[in-house]
Amino acid sequence: MVASGAGPAHPPDMTVPTELIRRLGTARRVTVLTGAGVSAESGVPTFRDAQTGLWAKFKPEELATPRAFRRNPRLVWEWYDGRRRRVATVQPNPAHLALAEMEKLFPHFTLITQNVDGLHQRAGSRNVIELHGNITRTKCFDEGTVISSWPDTGEVPPKCPNCGGLLRPDVVWFEEPMPEAQMEQAAEASTHCDVFLSIGTSTVVQPAASLPFEALRSGATVVEINPHPTTFTSDADYALAGAAGIVLPQLLAYLGK
Ligand code: NAD
Repeated sequence: MVASGAGPAHPPDMTVPTELIRRLGTARRVTVLTGAGVSAESGVPTFRDAQTGLWAKFKPEELATPRAFRRNPRLVWEWYDGRRRRVATVQPNPAHLALAEMEKLFPHFTLITQNVDGLHQRAGSRNVIELHGNITRTKCFDEGTVISSWPDTGEVPPKCPNCGGLLRPDVVWFEEPMPEAQMEQAAEASTHCDVFLSIGTSTVVQPAASLPFEALRSGATVVEINPHPTTFTSDADYALAGAAGIVLPQLLAYLGK
């Protein structure tokens, strides 16, 4: 891929440092970490924003844990069902679409996401590592098997057609271990890249929050895109302060696409 140092035919609004464009232009391996901020412009509420209306009295820690599910499976299933329905009605935004385009520009491009909404895949991204699962998938609470259909008996939550156990969303809850294979792939992609983009994440939820630091230690050029400062901002090589849906299409334009 060739990046134009002279800038694109239709110059974007934000001034992206020329050196960053040059590094991206010569990069062969690019790794991206995304968080809830990337889906904010699609109208997907963050965890805490979702605590409105009927759900205002519940804390995420009281809903998104195996203990909460054991205590009140109907409550947890219904809360996730609301989020699932909401996600089904929203669309990928310009940030998701720009990342899907970027994937085509580099020989190696890995998108690691903490989001559970599936919007990257709906935008066309292919090499996606989901660290926290996906709310559009369902699995058996007892066996962990992913289940794609079940008889509609009216029970809430529905029962696993294989073993009769309760069904739950296929997401990683608080107090649950991270998926090992995905964490290994994410660490590998973060420590073997030329450029690492950390986008729309507060960089506090571990272990994902350590990935930009690992990329830095491995010698990558690390860029943060976020309208607000985070715990990582002062360490980043470049911090582009702005909404992902604005900054990423501009970055793509600078790359001549
Ligand atoms: P977070 O809520 O902790 O941080 C969101 C970050 O996005 C903030 O730093 C904020 O400044 C930034 N932001 C807000 N609007 C933005 C925009 N338009 N462009 C770029 N950045 C923007 O999110 P997190 O770091 O991902 O951690 C929260 C956890 O909650 C994650 O584990 C995630 O799995 C889960 N979660 C997922 C979704 C989803 O799937 N869409 C939504 C909410 C929470």
